[in-house]
Amino acid sequence: MGVKLDPWGHYAIEDYVKLLAEFGIHPIDEVLGSLPRKHMYFERRVIFGHRDFNLWLDALKHGEKVAVLTGFMPSGRPHLGTAMVYEELRFLQSLGAHVKIVIADAEAYIVRREERSDVVKRGVDFIAHAIAWGIDPEKAEFYYQTAMDNEYYRLIQMFSRKISMAEMEAIYGELTPGKIVASLTQAADILHLQLDKYGGYRHVVVPVGADQDPHLRLTRDLADRFEQELGLKRPSSIYHKLLRGLDGNKMSKSRPEFAIHLDDDPDLAEKKLLNALTGGRATADEQRRLGGEPWKCSIYELYVYHLVGDDSELREVYDECVTGRVLCGQCKRRAVERLKRRLIEHQERYREVLSSGIVDKVLRKPSF
Ligand code: SF4
Repeated sequence: MGVKLDPWGHYAIEDYVKLLAEFGIHPIDEVLGSLPRKHMYFERRVIFGHRDFNLWLDALKHGEKVAVLTGFMPSGRPHLGTAMVYEELRFLQSLGAHVKIVIADAEAYIVRREERSDVVKRGVDFIAHAIAWGIDPEKAEFYYQTAMDNEYYRLIQMFSRKISMAEMEAIYGELTPGKIVASLTQAADILHLQLDKYGGYRHVVVPVGADQDPHLRLTRDLADRFEQELGLKRPSSIYHKLLRGLDGNKMSKSRPEFAIHLDDDPDLAEKKLLNALTGGRATADEQRRLGGEPWKCSIYELYVYHLVGDDSELREVYDECVTGRVLCGQCKRRAVERLKRRLIEHQERYREVLSSGIVDKVLRKPSF
C-alpha cells in the first residue's frame, strides 16, 4: 500500500525512503555541497528531502532576494517539534533569507473549530517563542491570516478558479469544504510574497514536516497555472522528519502529555522524559547483553534533533547504547539534565521577549 499523507493527521511517518520515491521528493544529499554553511539537520539527514532547493540556493549564491516562509496553526502550545522549524528558519535567516511566519488562525477556526480569541492569543506566543529561539525580528515579518488585505484574499478566489475538485481529492484524499478553503488559503500564504506588493520574493522556500507535502504539491500546481497571469514561480521546499512524541507517535500540540512544550515547567518535562518510550530491552541483563535499539527510542531522537550538537559526541551516545554499556535509566538522566538546561535558558529569553513588547510591534494582527 502507498504512503498516505494527511496534513491534519497525528501519525509518525516511518518510511522516508519510500516517501522520496512515491512523491518525487529529491534526496537532500543532492544539494549538501551547495549549502554555504553546514547545519546538523542537514548533516544528520533530519532534513531528508527537497523540491527545487537547489534553485533557491542558486538564487542566494547570486545575491537575489530569497525568503523562507512557514506557518503555525496555534491550536496548542509550541513544542520541540515546532522548535525544529524555528531552528530551520533561524539557520536560513543567518544565510541571508527574509523570514515570514504566518499564524494560521483562519485554518484553526475552519478545521479545528477553535475559538477566535484563543487562537489570536496563542499566536502571540508562537511568535514570542520564535524570537526567543533566535529569529531576528528585524529581518522578519509575522502576520495572522485574518489580518491580510484584499490582494491576498483575491489570490484565494483566483486559485479556486483553476483547480478542480478531482485534482484536490487526488492530492488530499477526502475533503471537507473547510479543508478546501484552508488549503487554498495556505497556497496564498506561500505564494503572496512573490507579488510586488508583498516584497517581490520570487525565490521562496518552505520548510515543512513530510506530512505537509500535499500543500506544497497543490501550491506548485497553482503557481504553474498563474505563471502567465501573475508571474508566479514554484516555491521550493525542504522536508524534515517528524519528531515523534514520547509514546512513539507524532509529537502533536493536541496530545500534550506526550510532547515537551517550550513553556513546560522543567520538572514536568523531567517527569515526561522519565516515562518516555525507549529502545531499551525488557531487562537490564538483556540490555547489557544485546544492547539497546536507539532507532526505536524517543530519547535518542531528542539527542539527535536537539540535545547534542557535536557529531562525535552523538556517535558516542549511539555506541554506548548499542553495546549495552549505558542503560536507559542513566541515558535518560543525562537527557533530562540537558533538556532542563535548554528549557530554562529558552524560557528566560522568552520572558525577556514578552516584556520587551517587541511582539506587539512586529506582529500584524486582525482588527476584530
Ligand atoms: S540507552 Fe538511551 S538511547 Fe539507548 S534505548 Fe535507552 S534511552 Fe534510548
